[in-house]
Amino acid sequence: MLLRLCLAVCLVSLCLYQTPLQAELKTIQLITMGGAITGTQKDALSGKFKLSSRSAETLVAGNIEILELADIKFKELYNIPSQEIQQKHWIKLAKEVDKAVNDITIDAVIITHGTDTLEETAYFLNLTVKTKKPIILTGAIRAALHPSSDSTQNLIDAIRVATHNDAINKGVLVVANGKIISARHIQKNHNHSLDALESSELGILGYVHNEIIDFHQASIKKHTYYSDFDIKTISELPNVDIAYAYSGGLSNIKKTAIKGLVVAGVGSGNIPMTTLKELKKLQKNNIQIVRSSRNVGAPVYSSKGSEINDAYLNFVSANNLSPQKARVLLMVALHKTSDPNKIRSYFKTH
Ligand code: ASP
Repeated sequence: MLLRLCLAVCLVSLCLYQTPLQAELKTIQLITMGGAITGTQKDALSGKFKLSSRSAETLVAGNIEILELADIKFKELYNIPSQEIQQKHWIKLAKEVDKAVNDITIDAVIITHGTDTLEETAYFLNLTVKTKKPIILTGAIRAALHPSSDSTQNLIDAIRVATHNDAINKGVLVVANGKIISARHIQKNHNHSLDALESSELGILGYVHNEIIDFHQASIKKHTYYSDFDIKTISELPNVDIAYAYSGGLSNIKKTAIKGLVVAGVGSGNIPMTTLKELKKLQKNNIQIVRSSRNVGAPVYSSKGSEINDAYLNFVSANNLSPQKARVLLMVALHKTSDPNKIRSYFKTH
């Protein structure tokens, strides 16, 4: 009897104290670019952030548990506000991401980035990095060391999505405020609301709630592995500018050294008659004109009923890409071709 009791006690203590076999952690390459997500708070009340000196360290400051979610390799590529990001930064980042996804020891890549232009970087990576591995961007509206920052939660959510098998082959994703959004549809629609990073009206892809990753849909536009572009062949991109249309006019166009011009037109990409003549001349001089809309998320098509005849003028319509995203696609497209028909097909499929 005594022997049996001893055996039972031993078994119970074994069950209690033996650490359960840990599932193998996935390995993430985490690249920091700067922005509020790795920023420190200048003072608690003003909401103003400043860049931290060691951005990667700021991410785990006081939240060491983050390191239990995955085996994370940190790399600080830049530490700049995202309004400073230019094509040279995109190219360097995309090459870095490309290197990581081609490393068999890396399962996924996360990029922390300022939210102001995060959508442009996300779309550039979506167009140029050939992989099925998850690539996730995240940012924060309130600096990492703000008393009620969204930085840690967004990072934890990004890690959870990045390590989830359902995130494979979905293209570049943005994770923020509990939502999973495709790089094709992400847009910053507010400046200080925690919900600032939103999807176009086509909708978010899914939710992340604690350990639950719940995908509902995916973008079927060509992305990453299926894209017609590849960062391996890109070392420089042609200059493309954006001109903003308003009642009766168009902002000044920088005519030199550009290879393309995206017009943020009124309504369905419309442009006042006086400036249309100028755009026709540019197109004749091989500066590709792309018509988008200043109406957020609204698609521009070259339909029979369009007020501007794109087929005749050799203009291209931007579908529902914002002017800033149409600029990204036009840069990448012009890197490959100057044929308006080919560029048109890229705008339909990507
Ligand atoms: N200006 C900052 C940036 O985009 C703001 C932010 O991170 O949200 O880098």
